Amino acid sequence: MPPDVESLALTYHYERHRGSETGVAHGHFTPRQEVNTIDLGLIAPDGTEVGETGSDKTSVQVSETSATPGYRPCRLVPGEWRILLGAYKVAPDGVMVTYELTFTPKRLRLLKGDLHAHTLASDGVLTVEELGRHALRHGLDFLAITDHNQKVAADALPRVPGLTLIPGIEWTHYKGHATFTGVDRPYDGSFAANTDEEVAARFASARARGALITIAHPFDEGCPFLFDAQALPFDCIEVWNGPMRPANLQAIGWWHNLLVAGKKIPVCGGSDYHRSQLFLFPGGPTTCVYTMSAGTSDILSALRSGHAYIVFAPDGPTLDMTAGEAMLGDSVPFARVKEIQVNVTGLHAEDVLQVVTPQSSTLLLKAEAPGHFQGSYRMEAPGFARVEILREFVPSLPALPALISNPIYFEV
Ligand SMILES: [Zn+2]
Ligand SMILES: [Zn+2]
Repeated sequence: MPPDVESLALTYHYERHRGSETGVAHGHFTPRQEVNTIDLGLIAPDGTEVGETGSDKTSVQVSETSATPGYRPCRLVPGEWRILLGAYKVAPDGVMVTYELTFTPKRLRLLKGDLHAHTLASDGVLTVEELGRHALRHGLDFLAITDHNQKVAADALPRVPGLTLIPGIEWTHYKGHATFTGVDRPYDGSFAANTDEEVAARFASARARGALITIAHPFDEGCPFLFDAQALPFDCIEVWNGPMRPANLQAIGWWHNLLVAGKKIPVCGGSDYHRSQLFLFPGGPTTCVYTMSAGTSDILSALRSGHAYIVFAPDGPTLDMTAGEAMLGDSVPFARVKEIQVNVTGLHAEDVLQVVTPQSSTLLLKAEAPGHFQGSYRMEAPGFARVEILREFVPSLPALPALISNPIYFEV
């Protein structure tokens, strides 16, 4: 398997039936005798079975998000994969088997998702499948299932075609919540942690097993994060949890100060959906991710790299922001690159588009009508640049963030 393959299609051919035409009284007859029967299977580089389908299917497809029945969706890691042939029946003169392999390469795309949602397994009201279909209808491409202290294995998640369901858990402690996503079992045993050491052990285990660790709703009115986040390993801050409100604005402020202090910390959003209520819906907010595929591993890797922005709903404004070759979340040397290019669609009249740096906020546009914006901004000093769109959702009430981006970093 070469690197960066999104989907593999495998077709095999051999002479299964044989028979020669013979003349009979009223025409010709060709007997159809099965002389060869070859079963098909696929083995991953770690020796695990991806699937086996007897001799019935001659064409199979596998990717991280979908697979022909009989095969399991899995990451197409580069390396030596093996095609397993079962020589169930072979003609005395042998059989020639040929394969056709089609590798579909990964490509950059923008996917929309929700990284924080609850089901019947904790205090939500929908099953995973119902929630998945609901999310898909709201325009999402991926959804993380993060029930309170409830581990869920990827294999146990239902298939919802068109939606990537990501296994996760919301580690829920009376002193703070964090989501561990992308792995079946971020830690052994229970959530219970009665000392700082036990808390640190849960986070260290989640980190070692490859989970994306997100500090959830750090300033929530009911369950703020009271641990010392700087002392724990984490990948991301959920600065936008459910409807925009003071607790989220406070989280954005905290994150901004960490950026000013020189930290590189990506942010994401999650609806914390439990049931449909006013202002609560899957994708409220939506995290939009520039990812190389729809597979969980690529989505989480893009989030870890900050290749993402957060928007109030799946159909909110879109953002494309670059600096030279760099995209959101990337770093560039200030000596070489000083300008960012900003491309925004879906603006409403009165929307405010601004660039935020360590030094200032600069207005790029106050939209006089609905439309899109294309422009640039020149950095005055090293640091970072991130974009915000503010919108008056309710006339005469203050404008609130409609979009918050990760920064591009300009290094000394
Ligand atoms: Zn929570
Ligand atoms: Zn939650």
